[in-house]
Amino acid sequence: MAELRYDILSGTYTIIASERAKRPNDFRAAQQHEDPVPDRDPGCPFCEGNENETPPEVHALRDSGKPDTPGWRVRVVPNKFPALRPAETAEIDSGMADIEVVPEVDDSSMYWRMPAIGAHEVVVETTKHNGTLGTYTVEDMAAVLETLKQRYRVLGDDKHIVYVQIFRNWGPEGGASLLHPHFQIIGLPLLPPEVSTELSRFSEYESKTGRCLMCDYIERETEKDERVAFKNREFIVLCPFASRFSFETLIVPRKHSVTFSELDNDKAVQLAEIFTSLFRAYEKMFSSLSYNIVFHTLPPPKRSRKQPADHWHIHVYPRLNVEAGLEKGAAVWINPTPPELAAQQFGGKG
Ligand SMILES: [Zn+2]
Ligand SMILES: [Zn+2]
Ligand SMILES: [Zn+2]
Repeated sequence: MAELRYDILSGTYTIIASERAKRPNDFRAAQQHEDPVPDRDPGCPFCEGNENETPPEVHALRDSGKPDTPGWRVRVVPNKFPALRPAETAEIDSGMADIEVVPEVDDSSMYWRMPAIGAHEVVVETTKHNGTLGTYTVEDMAAVLETLKQRYRVLGDDKHIVYVQIFRNWGPEGGASLLHPHFQIIGLPLLPPEVSTELSRFSEYESKTGRCLMCDYIERETEKDERVAFKNREFIVLCPFASRFSFETLIVPRKHSVTFSELDNDKAVQLAEIFTSLFRAYEKMFSSLSYNIVFHTLPPPKRSRKQPADHWHIHVYPRLNVEAGLEKGAAVWINPTPPELAAQQFGGKG
């Protein structure tokens, strides 16, 4: 019998359709072998030697070389086709001395708009065009995470940016337009609805119980041990109780921590270890898995705003099931892989 489950973080419902009980082999598209990807692609703007194909780098971890030349390990560049632009460049382009960045609402309150001011950066994770998270060393991954944290802090300091969204699109269903492995960071001039919903769940729970929702959740999940995919000293990977996607996972710091920017060197290594274990497992189960990785963290502190309750975490959404009418139109999900089964398939436990 299928079961309807409620997700405490997003407030959405999922029908866990256990009678379909889909295992990795049941997802044929994700098991198709594609042509091998080369180590380097002369036409790829993120490959080493093609640095002049991107806007000038804003940050890089380098073994050698000057900015915008080879010799880097991780390289951060503004997106060539940004969804949002920094205030300064928008001002120059529009010829305005000081662009107005407050929303404009018409008399009917029906039309809300503002310039798409913010930031859109690309973190090129490796020089290897064919790199995958499952093939990185812990050191490689820790370097990527440290870079993400640094850019998170820099963008968070921008007075126009209210939320810094870190994400990674992978595979055609994940919306990746370039093969070369990269994270993206978007600085938004507003608090996105998904984050806002989560923050209010954290606050509600805290005012009712005096405790952190995520701390209590991971404590219960650790006790039950039915949906734990991996864990190490600092992090735990869960298959969420009301997973919306088959093989969805949630990466959470085991000790209470409100923001990703608190990640120190030791924790970056622990998180890198968890990431590489998790993605090795994904890559073993599925030969070509599309997915999205989404970081959720406390908004960067801005002077006027009271800091809400939070416990930062990372969602991994494999795009194995299609977002169809019920998902799109009602935010009710059908997941053919019970998270308990998914956790067993990962077989980690750390
Ligand atoms: Zn490339
Ligand atoms: Zn907590
Ligand atoms: Zn979240």
